[in-house]
Amino acid sequence: DAKQPLSSLSAAQLRDYLAAQQRAYTVLQERGLALDLTRGKPSTAQLDLSDELLHLPVTVKDGDGVDCRNYGGLTGIRQIREMFADLLWVEPEQVVAGGNSSLTMMHDCLVQMLLHGAVDSARAWARDERVKFICPVPGYDRHFTMLASYGIEMIPVDMLADGPDADAIEALVATDAAIKGMWIVPTYANPSGSVISMEVASRLAAMPTAAPDFKIFWDNAYAFHHLTEQEAKGVDILSVCSGAGHPNRPIMFASTSKITYAGAGVAFLAASAENVAWYLRHQQFASIGPDKLNQLRHVQYFKTPQGVRDLMVKHREILAPKFAAVDAALTAELDGLEVATWSKPTGGYFVNLDVLDGTAGRVVALAKAAGIVLTPAGASFPGGHDPRDRNIRLAPSFPVLADVETAMAGVATCVALASAEKLAARHTAAA
Ligand code: PMP
Repeated sequence: DAKQPLSSLSAAQLRDYLAAQQRAYTVLQERGLALDLTRGKPSTAQLDLSDELLHLPVTVKDGDGVDCRNYGGLTGIRQIREMFADLLWVEPEQVVAGGNSSLTMMHDCLVQMLLHGAVDSARAWARDERVKFICPVPGYDRHFTMLASYGIEMIPVDMLADGPDADAIEALVATDAAIKGMWIVPTYANPSGSVISMEVASRLAAMPTAAPDFKIFWDNAYAFHHLTEQEAKGVDILSVCSGAGHPNRPIMFASTSKITYAGAGVAFLAASAENVAWYLRHQQFASIGPDKLNQLRHVQYFKTPQGVRDLMVKHREILAPKFAAVDAALTAELDGLEVATWSKPTGGYFVNLDVLDGTAGRVVALAKAAGIVLTPAGASFPGGHDPRDRNIRLAPSFPVLADVETAMAGVATCVALASAEKLAARHTAAA
């Protein structure tokens, strides 16, 4: 039985509903919960899947006879570059296998562009008075805090179901030469779950930009992280950009953080030959080479690209029930009330929950006071500021399933209560 939209209730009905939600919230608080849905971390059960890594490598030489215990090999070992080139639909020469964090590689690229300029820059970006980036919102908070730490201006653009709003981006980059780049999580975006379409990707690849050295930071963090059997096919952005005459526009990043170990995986960068040479030219001053033993044990563990895909199915089996639990809890409490919408992602690590304008902060505060920690409201926006105060990022991967169920029932209660408060206040104001 679908519920009635809350906004259609009379003042008296709404008062009753509010009182009922207040009672439900008191019961929730009395449970003394201590649950955390803040960050998209793999659960212990997911980490356990890869514990064979703890007994690898069985040999210390890679397929080329290189002793991985020693210095050298700034590009990473050939076998892992080939394996992930296959998975990411690029050529092995276009791939650099690095340390444990793709975020670090993004940061290295950004800083080198600021200090030295990109391959196609007339000068270091930092010499310009203003540097701006396009930031699809809601987006990944660490992308935004990284830019903020260097004083880069952020221009929010809406994330739509098929990727960022290409009309808005085309218009912005066409005239403003201070816009040097953009972030995009192309597949199963954090937090919207959107998958970029070939059409949107092609427009980003082809669009004229006032800045000749415009860069797309293509963060493929969730390329293989399917939650259903309908696996999204990523766009081969290097070829698409190359075909559009902008081979140096994209730099792709990926890692095994959410494939093997989040703190001890292998990170990758993929780009044009020129971009790769540029990256290595600067990286040679920072490192004599990555942790090749870690790369080697990943090669020995996966064996083939298919080994990675097979492992992702096991992750899916652990994760999918948690995402189903999020949807079930929200549906049970809120369906028909017309106070919230939420994503039903087919991959990635997040559910994007949009509540009534002006209530996201209240929902997060209510949840916190009931022992359920959520990502701070606004975290998915530059500066932590959601102009509508409606967006909440839910991360159900880390807690065990029973805790996700408990926490989400609690979150749904908090949304119902905050919505009722808001609408009751409107009634009062109108009276
Ligand atoms: N990019 C996105 C979009 C992410 O969500 C995350 C992890 N939360 C990262 C990058 C971090 O990747 P890594 O562990 O390789 O640094």
